[in-house]
Amino acid sequence: MLDLGQVPIYSKDRTEKDPIVIAGGPCAYNPEPLAPFIDCFYIGEGEVQYDLIFDLYKEHKKNGGSREDFIEKMLEIEGIYVPKFYDVTYKEDGRIEAFTPNHPKAKAKIKKQIVVDMEESFYPDKQIVPWSKAVHDRVFLEMFRGCLRGCRFCQAGMIYRPVREKSKENLIDSAKELIDSTGYDEISLSSLSTSDYSHLPEFMDMLLDTCQNERVNIALPSLRIDKMTVDLMNKVQGVRKSSLTFAPEAGSQRMRDVINKNLSEEEILNGSKLAFDAGWNRVKLYFMIGLPSEEEEDIRGIAKLGEQIVDTFYTIPKGRRKGAVQVAISTACFVPKPFTPFQWTGQNTHEEFIEKSRLIKNSITRRQIKFNHHDSQTSVIEAVIARGDRRVADGIYQAYKGGSTFDSWTEYFSFDNWLQAFEKADIDIDFYAHRDRSYDEILPWDHIDIGVSKEFLIKENEKALKGQTTPHCREKCSNCGATEFNGGVCYEN
Ligand code: SF4
Repeated sequence: MLDLGQVPIYSKDRTEKDPIVIAGGPCAYNPEPLAPFIDCFYIGEGEVQYDLIFDLYKEHKKNGGSREDFIEKMLEIEGIYVPKFYDVTYKEDGRIEAFTPNHPKAKAKIKKQIVVDMEESFYPDKQIVPWSKAVHDRVFLEMFRGCLRGCRFCQAGMIYRPVREKSKENLIDSAKELIDSTGYDEISLSSLSTSDYSHLPEFMDMLLDTCQNERVNIALPSLRIDKMTVDLMNKVQGVRKSSLTFAPEAGSQRMRDVINKNLSEEEILNGSKLAFDAGWNRVKLYFMIGLPSEEEEDIRGIAKLGEQIVDTFYTIPKGRRKGAVQVAISTACFVPKPFTPFQWTGQNTHEEFIEKSRLIKNSITRRQIKFNHHDSQTSVIEAVIARGDRRVADGIYQAYKGGSTFDSWTEYFSFDNWLQAFEKADIDIDFYAHRDRSYDEILPWDHIDIGVSKEFLIKENEKALKGQTTPHCREKCSNCGATEFNGGVCYEN
């Protein structure tokens, strides 16, 4: 984008005539691999500081200040991180030795900014309706931010803490306004884990009323499958009864406990049974391979769970079953992410992933099961960048120069190009992706404060290794540190 826009790629090469390049979003929580390309990073939810940033910019333009002056002024805004005002030194073995601010106003910790009261938060009621077909070509209703569950591999579950809900009345008002102003005939509910919305059945009844009056369809996201959600799916017209999605993430109960996916085999099988009974016949199952402490038994468990679901279909009396059952098993490769309890874990190698996929394939004995696995080469690159430091930026630049652009499209992805780029930039894949890190190592993202403490993440990692689970935030607070935001689920009741 920068190159096409004729904006110098490196921040240091930009002049007065160039725009100020600001990056944000979940990937920016570890800003370091992009540090030399970006003028300022913003850590947190945009609407909290947008006004302040734009006001500052207007004021600055009025006073005729330079680009550099403005970037320096940005240091005063909470959540803003300007990489050039920090120096990094490295130990001989390549690990970070120190990370030090080099400007008096540069903060030692950059604090995540969040909307604490979602009732008062801004939500655009006149959204842009594109002329061309867009990916999300419908009304989007954000019900809440954050996730209660605390899956240990999940970055979103940690960085969006704490859970903050909107009231059902507020949501219905927004839905009506958005339907009116956009003319869309479909509405989609968006949240990390929609089933955990605390007033889901009442809210859905209200939304169904609104949508039926307006002849608007409701697109349901993937829900935790239990009696309540099967009833709900039955009520919502237009939900196709062909495919049902579960994300058990791991094949054995031991492994699901390790990752804190509080989902039992019984719940999965009961959920499938309810859905088959209600007319579904296709199930998609999402898993991850390469999770910490994984053993052969856990891998075989993926195939076994698929087979148990096939068997469950045949427990429904013949007259009530619809068509033939199909179970699609998909596996992704585990990528350790910053700010998760697994941020210290080394990733499996490409060869290990291939071996594990082969094991699953060979363990499947039923023809009703289809198996797809995600290519591990992209996951290895992802692991280098996800937990990378500033030195990784050169590898990204070399890969770009070598032709890597639309890497998410498999036909454009070239593993060889990335390997060559990393070699040119002297980046050791093992060091970044496959190495276990120790708790006392300075991590490239340690200067970013998400409100969840490192002590909590360490405790969760230790519990994972013992196969111990942690209850979700509504069952019991586990003292993660997010109470400091003074809102959301931590203060319910
Ligand atoms: S402080 Fe407690 S309730 Fe709040 S997000 Fe953390 S674990 Fe959940």
